[in-house]
Amino acid sequence: MADLPLKPGSTIGIFGGGQLGRMLAMAAAELGFATHIYCDHDGSPASQVATRTSVAAYDDMAALERFAGSIDVASFEFENIPTEALEFISAHTRLAPGANTLDTTRDRLVEKEFVAGLGIPVAPFVNIGEELDLDLDEIGDKIRFPALMKSRRFGYDGKGQVRVVSPGEIHAAWESLDRAASILEEIIPFEREFSTVAVRDDGGEMLFYDLTENDHEGGILRRAQVPAAAPPEIHEKARDIAGIIAARLDYVGTFAVEYFYCGPDFEHPLIVNEIAPRVHNTGHWTMDAALTSQFENHIRAIAGWPLASTIRIADAVMTNLIGDDLLNWPRLAKSPENVLHIYGKDEIRAGRKMAHVTRLSPRTGWN
Ligand code: AMP
Repeated sequence: MADLPLKPGSTIGIFGGGQLGRMLAMAAAELGFATHIYCDHDGSPASQVATRTSVAAYDDMAALERFAGSIDVASFEFENIPTEALEFISAHTRLAPGANTLDTTRDRLVEKEFVAGLGIPVAPFVNIGEELDLDLDEIGDKIRFPALMKSRRFGYDGKGQVRVVSPGEIHAAWESLDRAASILEEIIPFEREFSTVAVRDDGGEMLFYDLTENDHEGGILRRAQVPAAAPPEIHEKARDIAGIIAARLDYVGTFAVEYFYCGPDFEHPLIVNEIAPRVHNTGHWTMDAALTSQFENHIRAIAGWPLASTIRIADAVMTNLIGDDLLNWPRLAKSPENVLHIYGKDEIRAGRKMAHVTRLSPRTGWN
């Protein structure tokens, strides 16, 4: 395995060819690294800017072996990489963050039990197993309705989720998820949604970006802004929770923790919704409004470099351009406060993240 810190000219391998891989590859190039993308389709956003791409299935062992032999460190931009692929890569080269983080975070049940086990509040939930053999009274004791049924795996951007208004609807909801192993989770009457994006290096040092306030529509992130409108103790609490989670995972790289904020009068004002073991959409503002982006700091962390400053230098509102929104680019490009990032996707589709625009203004508020 290559010695750390990796020297400029070394090769960073990234599983996944989407926009996160693209932005990681661009950040890596800024530091003089080459990138090798591994993904399962041609013409991906990341491959357009990477040094090299391997197109193969994620369980193609021969392709994985060639990939491992060509890189100095491997990382990933999405969670659903087969365990065997990660084990193989870990045996042949450095993988950061480690496979343990995906084992914990790609299954909602395992993730929630992990977070709850650290004494950190999560939405009350019950496990819906492989067979629907449930005592409805028992469920009623554990969670209140309405609730959300979420498949334990492969859910993102609100996919794999269905609203359940009363216990009588549980069966139909489970059928609509193709009987996938799922959890049933109380719907939290949150006031706002926040996230903490942070980065942890090889030696355990951690830096945090300012708390971000997020708006979702139909389960998809629409807008993320800084500074977040939250009391000072909530900014600190969110950092503390993110720090505890990352330390317990012995995490290396950039990650995000998403929160529901219920207001000061609730027993648990801040509840963890999800951990994302990767660079995150709610941290895209850091590209234009922080001294160092979440992408550069991820590359620094996995390459064994020192982390660089996460200080915020402007207020920012990041808006995702989803599907046809991209057609507005000529208007958005006219405003000097807007920074546009277009992902190079081959086809506009409804619900597909095509680009984002970050609107900057002079810095105010919390640090
Ligand atoms: P998720 O894929 O779990 O991050 O869910 C996507 C979005 O759906 C969240 O950011 C919330 O806006 C909403 N959501 C998910 N779970 C809950 C919940 N338990 N209570 C209220 N809203 C939720």
